[in-house]
Amino acid sequence: MPGPAKILIVEDDAHIRRLLRATMQRAGHEVAEAADARAALSLLDIEKPDVVLLDLGLPDRDGLELIGPVRQRSTATIIVVSARDDSAEKVAALDLGADDYLTKPFDTDELLARIRAALRHQHASTAGEEPSIIDVGDLHIDLARRRIERDGGEVHLTPKEYAVLAELARRPDRVLSHAHLLKTVWGPAHEARVEYLRIAVRGLRQKLETDPSMPRLIVNELAVGYRLSLRGPSNTP
Ligand code: CA
Repeated sequence: MPGPAKILIVEDDAHIRRLLRATMQRAGHEVAEAADARAALSLLDIEKPDVVLLDLGLPDRDGLELIGPVRQRSTATIIVVSARDDSAEKVAALDLGADDYLTKPFDTDELLARIRAALRHQHASTAGEEPSIIDVGDLHIDLARRRIERDGGEVHLTPKEYAVLAELARRPDRVLSHAHLLKTVWGPAHEARVEYLRIAVRGLRQKLETDPSMPRLIVNELAVGYRLSLRGPSNTP
């Protein structure tokens, strides 16, 4: 498992910055801080962060404009933390290369869980050990054998259902945009066919969720995409 990480907090609000710093330090992470885009870019090369927590409302530049340059110069995971609850903006952030998105006010436990997920993924990619088995609640996903079991019994998925689940399972606890899932599973020509994706997700939920009308495994990110939640299909919220 990955150890503590270096987190670069990019946030102009001193109060939120302090809160984020305290939260990260309590979790054992090292912290660097920037109050604007200019400072963020200069700290990027000096601090070499593993994770960048990026506020979009910065005084000198729109945080969205930072995603490209950060992505070019660093392999850090970018988690956008923004006050704006605007789905078009979330999609834009993901398309520009952000890895995840949280809306303020956010739950610090949720933020730490997202950071852990990001670090697990980074660690696995660097070590060339993408996890091929994912266990969530009573669900067992074996990507190497293309086999899904629930309560020990095999679940039969259509090829598209399987492909969607596999893509989500490769990056658990992280939001994948509709366009990303459509491109990966159906191909670039079908990037806008959100209805294809809805049908596959409905099928998956029927087969995998304890209560398909209250999904806990394949979670909606409204108008943005889907996330496979490692908290599982049958746990309490
Ligand atoms: Ca701000």
